[in-house]
Amino acid sequence: MVIVGGGIVGASFAYHAHLAGLDEITLITDFMPGDKAQATSNTWGWVNGYAVNDKNYAAFRLANLSYWIKLIDNINSLEKTSKGAFFWDFHDTELTEIIAQHQNWGHSVKEVDQSQMEVHLPNLLHKPYKAGFGQDDLAIEGSKVTKELIKASGCKVKNIRVNKIIYDGNNVNGVETDQGIIYTDEVIIAAGLGTPNLLSSLKVNFKMHSSLGLLAYTKPLSDLLLKHPITGTDFHARQDDKGRLVIGGKFDDDASKEKNIQEAAMKLIKEMEKRLNYNFTLKLDHYTLGIRPLPLDGRPKIGRLKNEQDESIKGVYIAVMHSGITNAPLAGKLGIEEIMTGKKHSLISDFSPQNLSSKGCN
Ligand SMILES: Cc1cc2nc3c(=O)[nH]c(=O)nc-3n(C[C@H](O)[C@H](O)[C@H](O)COP(=O)(O)OP(=O)(O)OC[C@H]3O[C@@H](n4cnc5c(N)ncnc54)[C@H](O)[C@@H]3O)c2cc1C
Repeated sequence: MVIVGGGIVGASFAYHAHLAGLDEITLITDFMPGDKAQATSNTWGWVNGYAVNDKNYAAFRLANLSYWIKLIDNINSLEKTSKGAFFWDFHDTELTEIIAQHQNWGHSVKEVDQSQMEVHLPNLLHKPYKAGFGQDDLAIEGSKVTKELIKASGCKVKNIRVNKIIYDGNNVNGVETDQGIIYTDEVIIAAGLGTPNLLSSLKVNFKMHSSLGLLAYTKPLSDLLLKHPITGTDFHARQDDKGRLVIGGKFDDDASKEKNIQEAAMKLIKEMEKRLNYNFTLKLDHYTLGIRPLPLDGRPKIGRLKNEQDESIKGVYIAVMHSGITNAPLAGKLGIEEIMTGKKHSLISDFSPQNLSSKGCN
């Protein structure tokens, strides 16, 4: 089996292929976790179950939330940074409706008032009058977790580029890399924004969107100022495993409009300073600029492909998504299950790569 892509999605496929007993797994990736060009390296790291007005996608996200806990229990080197997250980036009535909708779908999210927030977030000034609290939401460190999943999979890693997919009729049988052709029974494409280009070599037209996400990191703080991630109307912030605040603007904002990124990052830090009860100056350590891989309908795309004549293409499987930090565990587990058994689990049955839903949220 060859997996193209060493971000969190490819890492999850490698780990679950290993769990399924496959011993010849090669992961090919031109960038590694931690490299600037990966979405995974530049993520914010919030694992959550929300998908407004999209019950099936919310069910998949919720199942991932539970499965993350199992993965963390099963792999000693994996850990979460925090549990529970607050959000209030909606108008009052909308916030109440969204919380009620997700509660009806079985999510452990509740509405909290200022006094309840005070208990969890004593250092946050100007608390909103109400917020949502996802009790089981997690924060994880994307690059670190991805490196550990790759290590736990025991796969062979090749840090090279795949130029094209090799196929014969409707059968994929390998990939062409900078170092020659690698033949294989199954190619899993977990290449994030590299997916459309790779699929075009198979004559499959697969379009995606993208947007640019800016995150400013402070120098590590010795105090724990934010025990939980918070998403306000025009900012989001959390404290990472090194004690740094990781601060973004309005959630899902596109930073490509910024003329001076360094100044925009400084502004995020300065504005955050005003929101916290902290006697010292927050200093910018560095910023990250990540490109979000966005399927056109906002839902994950996981599964087999068809050619222009609607015939199945054998030997190739794709997995590409935004919210990969949330969704990667079950994308990998259920994807490998489908490859091994030919049966698609109901949790991913809505996410066939070439079907677009009108329910998506991007
Ligand atoms: C600013 C920002 C904040 C985010 N916040 C969150 C969040 O809070 N919660 C959440 O769930 N998600 C979040 N996301 C989304 C999440 O980070 C991504 O969905 C996820 O990281 C995608 O993982 P991936 O493995 O699919 O892609 P990537 O991490 O981009 O990895 C793809 C890999 O494929 C490799 N590749 C591509 N083409 C080729 C080729 N031809 N040959 C060899 N290798 C190739 C690349 O080198 C790369 O290593 C955020 C993203 C950004 C940018």
